[in-house]
Amino acid sequence: MNRHTHTAISVASGLFACTLFNLPVVLVVSGCLNSAMLPDIDLHFHALRHRGITHSLLLPIVLSCCAIGTTGSIHYIIIGLIIGLLSHIIADLFNGKGVEIFYPCKRNFSLADIKYNGKGEDIIRIVAYCYICYSLLMNWTSSLMNVPWSNIILYWQ
Ligand SMILES: [Zn+2]
Repeated sequence: MNRHTHTAISVASGLFACTLFNLPVVLVVSGCLNSAMLPDIDLHFHALRHRGITHSLLLPIVLSCCAIGTTGSIHYIIIGLIIGLLSHIIADLFNGKGVEIFYPCKRNFSLADIKYNGKGEDIIRIVAYCYICYSLLMNWTSSLMNVPWSNIILYWQ
């Protein structure tokens, strides 16, 4: 998947988690945005095999331990980081090359063969964009519904 697709999937996943567990959207989605492309840092280090250790469950597990030990804003940002990492790893699982998700086990796992920059990826990205729009629209709409409009109208009369 390219960076646009990874970012869209990450934000959509973060918004979905926020809706499901009533999490603070800004903190969680900011974490998602910061980790959406983090696993592909291996492309910049020749010592690391692409889709190896950085695409494994090691970092999400370590961050989960950190999240347990924190409270407040940092807790929700770490949750966002975990969601962003997992969304990237799961998205790359749908590429034919697969990922070493259970590193140090060096076996590549793959669930499908969606081509990089292919039509399948375009569809996934469009679905993610649609969900982001839907989620933001629903949140903004419900926020507007919670405004005490009758009190405001009475104040101005
Ligand atoms: Zn990747």
